[in-house]
Amino acid sequence: MIETINSSQQAILLEDKYGAHNYHPLPVVLCKGEGVFVWDVEGKRYYDFLSAYSAVNQGHCHPRIINALINQAKELTLTSRAFYNDKLGIAEKYICETFGYQKALFMNSGAEANESAIKLARKWGYTKKGIPDNEAVIIAVQKNFHGRTTTIISASTDPDSRNGFGPFMPGFEVVAYDDVDALAKALANPNVCALWIEPMQGEAGVYIPTDGYLKAAEQLCRKHNVLLMMDEIQTGIARTGKMLASDYEDVRPDLLILGKALSGGTMPVSCVLADDDIMLVIKPGEHGSTFGGNPLAAAVCIEALQVVKDENLADNAMKLGIIFRERMQALQKKTDLITLVRGKGLLNAIVINDSPESKTAWNICVDFLKNGLLAKPTHGNIIRLAPPLVITEEQVHECCDIIEKCILAYKK
Ligand code: PLP
Repeated sequence: MIETINSSQQAILLEDKYGAHNYHPLPVVLCKGEGVFVWDVEGKRYYDFLSAYSAVNQGHCHPRIINALINQAKELTLTSRAFYNDKLGIAEKYICETFGYQKALFMNSGAEANESAIKLARKWGYTKKGIPDNEAVIIAVQKNFHGRTTTIISASTDPDSRNGFGPFMPGFEVVAYDDVDALAKALANPNVCALWIEPMQGEAGVYIPTDGYLKAAEQLCRKHNVLLMMDEIQTGIARTGKMLASDYEDVRPDLLILGKALSGGTMPVSCVLADDDIMLVIKPGEHGSTFGGNPLAAAVCIEALQVVKDENLADNAMKLGIIFRERMQALQKKTDLITLVRGKGLLNAIVINDSPESKTAWNICVDFLKNGLLAKPTHGNIIRLAPPLVITEEQVHECCDIIEKCILAYKK
């Protein structure tokens, strides 16, 4: 029997009983989204301050993206890469021109794009840099988050991501984030093929490195003939107030990794961008994906990126991010519950003055929920605040009022 959902409670019980318990969601059951808003099955409206971990930068169900999806779905959805399709080349040209690269490799999830970048970096290391077979090293940084595959978690420093999932993939070395000296030492190893880094660490809790760190990292990569492999899956596509967070330091990664908002949250679309001397080290038959580069994804991706440009979402994120942080900093002065406010553009976080093990941040998010705003703690005491980039100034103020009301009223 196929059930129909009549209440939040019913949906929660159903997921709990039949779904894997690999997430701990807030108790809200959503059934509709439009722009900055989502609605639960009882009809209550919320501001979405998670944006599906920044996949919905263009807002929920953006009409142009949904139209592109529907129109292409009626024509052709999947051919596999055994054949050409009439949309992929257009999307590849469009994304290469948008970000200034010679070649694009489309995949689906962010983790797959990272996996693809790892393979490209290793193959480049052997065929171009002359690293002895099977000895390539990729330098990652502490508190990184690049996805959930067994290879990716081999470079993770998060016990929740790793514990119980070994044995791990060799060939990764982890150094401190935001530490140029540590990088200089690590990159001097001639077997290093790539530095793998997020320009701002989203999942870790919105950590921003010191100004100049990314530029120094780029220069060290050049000096040691190491590829700069930048994971902009969460920070890219206008989220931080520029098209890419790397743009803040005028850094050009050798391998640019994108995902999430490439489809405006309608389907998994990810991509690795690189120039010919890197991308062409992988030959036919050496890498692929049944769904990667499908015509549906191609059509959706072009529209999703075009919406970001047409609606000036980077500028909006930049402008409203400043207003949002000003409001949060003013709030911080009124309470000792917030120890820190940080972020760029509309990727921000407040750090709650309690231990990561405490339930304080969770309980505050439950209060937000009751007051019509959805956000979720990361790493216990950090609340990430990242609305769709189509939010207006008036809405930002309304949301700040909700956050302020909940924080000031909070009692342990
Ligand atoms: N890389 C970064 C920086 C991310 O934030 C995420 C997801 O949050 C990923 C990779 C993984 O993407 P996906 O969940 O689509 O595999």
